[in-house]
Amino acid sequence: MSGVASRSQCTPGTTTTVFAGIGQGEIGGTRTAAMHRLQKIPSIVMSHIHTSAQVSAHMHYKMLVLGGGSGGITMGARMKRLFGAENVAVVEPSEMHYYQPIWTLVGAGAKTLASSGRSTESLMPSGVKWVKSKVQEINPNTNTVKTDDGTEITYEYLIVALGLELHFEKIKGLPEGFEHPKIGSNYSIQTVEKTWKALQDFKEGNAVFTFPNTPVKCAGAPQKIMYLSDAYLRKTGKRNKATVIYNTSLPVLFGIKKYADALWDIVRERELQINLRRNLIEVRADRQEAVFENLDYPGETTVIEYEMLHVTPPMGPNPVVQNSPLSDGAGWLDLNKDNLQHNKYPNVFGIGDCTNLPTAKTGAAVAAQSGVLHRTISRILKNQKPDKIYDGYTSCPLVTGYKSVILAEFDYNGQPLETFPINQAKERRIMYHMKADVMPHLYWHGMLRGLWGGPAPYRKLMHLGMK
Ligand SMILES: Cc1cc2nc3c(=O)[nH]c(=O)nc-3n(C[C@H](O)[C@H](O)[C@H](O)COP(=O)(O)OP(=O)(O)OC[C@H]3O[C@@H](n4cnc5c(N)ncnc54)[C@H](O)[C@@H]3O)c2cc1C
Repeated sequence: MSGVASRSQCTPGTTTTVFAGIGQGEIGGTRTAAMHRLQKIPSIVMSHIHTSAQVSAHMHYKMLVLGGGSGGITMGARMKRLFGAENVAVVEPSEMHYYQPIWTLVGAGAKTLASSGRSTESLMPSGVKWVKSKVQEINPNTNTVKTDDGTEITYEYLIVALGLELHFEKIKGLPEGFEHPKIGSNYSIQTVEKTWKALQDFKEGNAVFTFPNTPVKCAGAPQKIMYLSDAYLRKTGKRNKATVIYNTSLPVLFGIKKYADALWDIVRERELQINLRRNLIEVRADRQEAVFENLDYPGETTVIEYEMLHVTPPMGPNPVVQNSPLSDGAGWLDLNKDNLQHNKYPNVFGIGDCTNLPTAKTGAAVAAQSGVLHRTISRILKNQKPDKIYDGYTSCPLVTGYKSVILAEFDYNGQPLETFPINQAKERRIMYHMKADVMPHLYWHGMLRGLWGGPAPYRKLMHLGMK
């Protein structure tokens, strides 16, 4: 922890820490207009909402998939094989589909944003109906979905793959703060290139990275950009003029001890400052100040003056799921964690970030879930009991530099479930190539075509006697 802070008492019981002597204040009134411009950030692909003139007022499909992101397109391809293309529809409003894991590298200038996107049309399984609308309401009691253009779609079976919602607006001063320089976020199309710009423009001062006080997708991404930024600043000779700070709401650096231990070694070696239990509550982008609350001492806030700020926004359930009978108490899709069938509605299933599956929300988890869900539905169609069990497999390639990755893979119990018979907690160049070059190919050409259900971890193969 380098000594950049000075403390001052504000009100009884409220301590404010002012970094580099900068005080506090309110930002001026561009919030409403900017909210309108950036409001679509929460859903990464919602900016191209399109209402199809061709859709009729009522449709019926044997299998209806909601959402055409990672889970939706993957299940659309798999369900085509089970039901026949003409019996399957996918509801997705966006013209473009993005491979979000690459945004970590886009924010660090190692890949372009364009390389992360393809048209939804090119990815929709041939013959499957693409309903280019936004789901407004799900009524599982009448097997009906309503879209924003007034169309009613009935179904026999439903897969919900609506992802989660980003909430930049829950941080005071955002999203309008993104109109200022020096601030970015790898979590949305609109803000990811701003991260790279802020990094390139860095001169001297604090480079600050945040992790919110909510569930997130890819829990490693908020710190991957810190390691990449550190590497970039070293490469460009600016690191000695920078204090690199990671303020996380979590009480740990990473949830799985094996990988957390390796990351702490890196953090110490590279002199990165980690502050646990600090939650970003306000950005005063005009003054380059970020305000954090100390979650262990309610009322205590800290102001950090930044030269660069990377924001990981608060996240929450998709509102359509939250407002439907399909949600658990917290707003997530209420699934059986073993077979991915809904806990109350047996003809409803789910996959990915919108669910309450107690594992880390990642594309790798979606890949593993897709194989189990495919099997569950094919058994149900034959009046058989689901037999394949999802073990919670998820993965996080922790990018620790421009040529190094620690490949974290684990299950529901937080136990490492590794693909390779080597110590994956070690930084490796080959794993970087896996992340940057191999995984995108597997995504576009394997997973989204329903041909690849994630890696077969070494431990499983050993268990099956197939090593
Ligand atoms: C910066 C970043 C880095 C990441 N890094 C990794 C990584 O290294 N490895 C990894 O495995 N994962 C990573 N992820 C996470 C991964 O991208 C997600 O977990 C994955 O995309 C989840 O798939 P999904 O189908 O559940 O949701 P999404 O892919 O987000 O798809 C949800 C879809 O639902 C649609 N939708 C939403 N609301 C509606 C509605 N009302 N009507 C119709 N459609 C709607 C959206 O338009 C969207 O297309 C990363 C994510 C980010 C942002």
